[in-house]
Amino acid sequence: MKIVGILGGGQLGLLLAQSLQRYGATVNVYDPNPESPAFKTCNEATCDSWTDAEKLVQFFNKCDVVTYEFENVSVDLLEDVQAKSETALYPSEKILAITQNRILEKKGVQNLGHPVVPFAKISEISQLALEARTLSYPCILKTTTGGYDGKGQYFLKDELSLNKVLPELPKAEFILEKAVDLKCEVSCIVSRNKKGQCVSFPIFENVHKDGILFQTQQPAKVSSFVQDEARKIAENLATKLEVVGLLTVEFFVVLDESDEETLYVNELAPRPHNSGHITLKSCSISQFDLHARALLDLNLETPVLVGGNTIVMENLLGDEWNSESGWDIDLKPIFSTKGFVDIVLYGKPEARPKRKMGHFYFVR
Ligand code: ADP
Ligand code: MG
Repeated sequence: MKIVGILGGGQLGLLLAQSLQRYGATVNVYDPNPESPAFKTCNEATCDSWTDAEKLVQFFNKCDVVTYEFENVSVDLLEDVQAKSETALYPSEKILAITQNRILEKKGVQNLGHPVVPFAKISEISQLALEARTLSYPCILKTTTGGYDGKGQYFLKDELSLNKVLPELPKAEFILEKAVDLKCEVSCIVSRNKKGQCVSFPIFENVHKDGILFQTQQPAKVSSFVQDEARKIAENLATKLEVVGLLTVEFFVVLDESDEETLYVNELAPRPHNSGHITLKSCSISQFDLHARALLDLNLETPVLVGGNTIVMENLLGDEWNSESGWDIDLKPIFSTKGFVDIVLYGKPEARPKRKMGHFYFVR
């Protein structure tokens, strides 16, 4: 029986731990937060710091293989840990180094032959106005590292809004992206094992609110061109980057001047993804099971849609939690949602605005 380590104890770690255990593995979770959701389901919880190389080496040495559900662990530290431990990290820290940095990520995707939105690296804030004029407004300024769920992003409608955000910008390196007019957003999850076997899910259609995922729907209401092209690009990226485990690829679907659909790769995540929760209800195998199979070196099975319905996954954010009822949520309106299927609550003790607290599914 294999011992699998997961760096990060959030909801993705919790659901991955359940899949790994169903495939017979023992699961150890590492997270500095003692209230981590995945600590409730894992076999062994390690509550130590992300910056303690010794503790990380000890954790790796207790496992046969280690993966992560949290991307913001220092790559330098992980390289150091990898040099001191025989235990493999999947996907490797080389992939994490690319996906942690929006500029390396975009250049990496371009080098592999796939389009990304026009962008510029902003090392000095004094360059910003000139670069924004060159790309042409509207633009989005993003911190190069550390951002997630729309955090560290500034929408620049015009020069006026640029001047307004200037005083509030943190000291950081930024990427400036052309803000494109989205026809829709989709994502595709690929699983790849050590033998190089590679399978992908039918794509998900995603709706964001304020930069954070609101709903995911499957099947995606997109053309067969978008469906096939997204899967082809995602599988190619996973293969060329030699991913072992999961790779999620987020895409923008945009209409070009001649009204043709173009796919831009937005982001890569070498881990299970929020949009992929839907696979627990919509597909023959879930993202968590396919990740478990890749980590345990088992055969991969191509996921197919089951049930014939359109399934929607909707996130429940901390904003819905009510302080008057002791920071709880009134579940009655959710249970009475038309087509309600199921709900998952992560058991986080504290609700905060925009914090992901759970999700539910309904049939549309
Ligand atoms: P995060 O790491 O926070 O998910 P993203 O780059 O994926 O960051 O941005 C979050 C969301 O903001 C996207 O899913 C999309 O809805 C919107 N967005 C980001 N960049 C662009 C862009 N260049 N053009 C249009 N919309 C964008
Ligand atoms: Mg994103």
